[in-house]
Amino acid sequence: MKQLIHGGRLLTAGRLDGTPADLLIDGDTIAAVLRPGESVAADTKRIDATNRLLIPGMVNAHTHATVALCKGLVDRWSLELLLNGYPWSAGGRTVETKYLSAKIGAIEMVRKGCTACYDLVAEIPTPSVEGVKAVAQAYSDVGMRAVVAPMMADTTFYRAIPGLIESMPPGLREKAEAVRAAPYDVSLATCRTLIENWSFEHDRLRPALGPTIPHHCSDAFIVGCRDLAKAHGIGVHMHVAESKVQAVVGPRKFGTTLVGHLRKLGLIAPNFTAAHAIWIDDDDVARLADAGASVAHNPGSNMKLGSGLAAARKMRDRGITIGIGTDGCQSSDNQNVFEAMRMAAFVSRVQGPDPRQWLSAEEAFEAATKGGARALGMENLIGQLAPGFKADVVFLDLTSINYVPLNEPLYHVVFVEDGTGVDRVMVGGRMLVDEGKVLGVDMIKLAAEANGATKHLAKVNAAAREFVRAFEPVVLDYCVGLAREPYHVRQWCGH
Ligand SMILES: [Zn+2]
Repeated sequence: MKQLIHGGRLLTAGRLDGTPADLLIDGDTIAAVLRPGESVAADTKRIDATNRLLIPGMVNAHTHATVALCKGLVDRWSLELLLNGYPWSAGGRTVETKYLSAKIGAIEMVRKGCTACYDLVAEIPTPSVEGVKAVAQAYSDVGMRAVVAPMMADTTFYRAIPGLIESMPPGLREKAEAVRAAPYDVSLATCRTLIENWSFEHDRLRPALGPTIPHHCSDAFIVGCRDLAKAHGIGVHMHVAESKVQAVVGPRKFGTTLVGHLRKLGLIAPNFTAAHAIWIDDDDVARLADAGASVAHNPGSNMKLGSGLAAARKMRDRGITIGIGTDGCQSSDNQNVFEAMRMAAFVSRVQGPDPRQWLSAEEAFEAATKGGARALGMENLIGQLAPGFKADVVFLDLTSINYVPLNEPLYHVVFVEDGTGVDRVMVGGRMLVDEGKVLGVDMIKLAAEANGATKHLAKVNAAAREFVRAFEPVVLDYCVGLAREPYHVRQWCGH
């Protein structure tokens, strides 16, 4: 079926002025960008885009579907408190709750103009084929594109940080030592089964691998991920140097930085996406750039967890592809890529006095569209509105208050748009959102279902909550101590 989106204005890479243009869509793909009013075949379905700005679907380069039920759950958590709290905040999920959680995340993303994401699916203690499939199914049912990577570790949080267990008082120490991570070969076997039996359409949903954090994974595990990804031509996504604690641990554990360690293990390649990449030095930037890797920049999460400000300008200038991510709901808490994009532009501006070094609106927009598409390995499919690309189109309402009055369309999208201007969202030629509502979703029913699930999870996870709370003071003291140690990179504002 052919469709014509007519009467709108177009804003995409190479056409950032928002001038009028029509889009001809054939099936799920953009067939042509036409001059306004250009004639098309009589049987073409016409979609009126008067007073609408058409942009490519935003791409969320980093999130976690299984914690979408955690929005608005916690306040002053550092990354280390978040990791300590995981068995409580993210535990106890059944296949049904994983599906529900992913569906909620996907609905929020689509509603706010995001049509594709890279999702690191957290299951404790080890990924399951049913769990990851449930997440993929949720994306499929909502209609979004996603790269779905089981997030995995074979070292517990307590063991991953040298000296942490030793700093614990007796009683607690034994409890920490008794926590076990899943052996890596079990997790890898699950991934292999998942990949070999993947039944979702490749252009829509892809599997990838998510070894979670360098020092939470043994060398053998990382090498196993590298080889499995290579054998199947899929991506690898890992949190890298997200917190200063992690950066300090790197040389202590590996005799080199975290990126240096991953490089030695051969993990860094064009299919590799590093999430956060805050506490990395110039050599690390060069290692990532020279290998053709991408970085998922999550400025909102980085500020909520007090992780620091990533040097996006430096990474971009050295040739690293930058995508923009929200991160999961424990650290975001919303799934609004417009907001993450605006924050990316803003945090670049508190890192130095020279405006020429700040991320421009164009660079931030590119990162949230083309850059994210590259991080997902979908750069030939999405991220642009041009012939041959999928028809993933966001219609922004130029009569919504975000565009009144209208000055530079690009600046409105980057500096004003907060998701409330999203009128319609199309993925692969199919309309998922109309008049700001996700089609086919009963929000009252969904809210009841979600509140029922969180109530139930609170009961199921009550013991886990007490367990992790007992560790909080010691994790806090030890990790803040580590974070105060000198390191040759500084990424905190004013420090
Ligand atoms: Zn993350």
